[in-house]
Amino acid sequence: MTREVIILGSGPAGLTAAIYASRANLNPLVIHGPQPGGQLTTTTLVENFPGFAQGIMGPELMDQMRAQAEHFGAEFLQKPATSVKLSAERKTVVCDDQTFEAKTVIIATGASAKTLGLDREWELMGYGVSTCATCDGAFFRNQIILVVGGGDSACEEALFLTKFASKVYLVHRRDSLRASKIMAERVIAHEKITVLWNTGIAKLLGDKKSGLTAVILKDTVNGSEKEMPATGLFYAIGHQPNTDLFKGQLEMDNNGYLVTTGASTKTNIPGVFACGDVQDHVFRQAITAAGSGCMAAIEAERHLSGH
Ligand code: NAP
Repeated sequence: MTREVIILGSGPAGLTAAIYASRANLNPLVIHGPQPGGQLTTTTLVENFPGFAQGIMGPELMDQMRAQAEHFGAEFLQKPATSVKLSAERKTVVCDDQTFEAKTVIIATGASAKTLGLDREWELMGYGVSTCATCDGAFFRNQIILVVGGGDSACEEALFLTKFASKVYLVHRRDSLRASKIMAERVIAHEKITVLWNTGIAKLLGDKKSGLTAVILKDTVNGSEKEMPATGLFYAIGHQPNTDLFKGQLEMDNNGYLVTTGASTKTNIPGVFACGDVQDHVFRQAITAAGSGCMAAIEAERHLSGH
């Protein structure tokens, strides 16, 4: 059986594409990635998605989007795609032992937070180490927290974390922040925040039982190291688009984001569309992802009706 459309990814972009495609009677198959529902499932209150005056919890918003797509006939598969072949008119998506064929593919695989690649990083993830201040900040009341990074995300997270922490250290590898001037000024002026300039993190101390207890800081200029007690460490060093699956097939920019044509979601392969954070490193919002998911579904529908 050749499907009309397969959607890879189930964040706001993928699920909005699924709502539009299913309402257009295209019976989309949505293939979840490793984090069904996407990045919003790891957040708490979402206050900036229009339509929810009091805000809505991220996981609930994603459950609602999925239910809305299912209501119109979208099908879901909980088995990440392992390989794709996109160039032919009939595209194939392989999920381990199952192979699916479709006339169009909508890619909404999103982006993932970058990490430092330190030993114990994954053991301590959720046990003191986090990639999402909004999700986990409240667990660190009256504690000493480190935030790594020097961009807008790092500044935003450091400022947010002052609501909970007794002290926030922003650890940055250089001597000036990459963040916008206004964010940098707020961070530097904040009484609870100290910026540790020219500093990296060399080692994490602690285990699952104790949680993170301390880090070894490394001076990036002279290489000297010192231990610093800390129970919370937030990574805010940017995001990596989830595009490994498409290497060698779809056009990407230098950072691995999928390239789409002008104001459309069209990729370099006819019938293949990309939406959400996998092709947007600028806005990265749930609402912009949802908007581009809508565009992708409409463009897929137009592509199908033109064939
Ligand atoms: P970003 O601008 O790429 O900044 C990443 C930061 O992490 C940089 O300071 C970088 O250091 C540091 N970094 C990267 N790899 C590192 C490593 N291995 N070790 C130590 N430090 C490392 O990423 P972002 O802050 O996530 O922002 C992404 C985009 O979203 C930007 O365009 C930003 O303006 C936007 N954004 C806007 C807002 C807002 O306006 N409210 C909020 C968040 C994000 P270097 O500076 O040395 O390269």
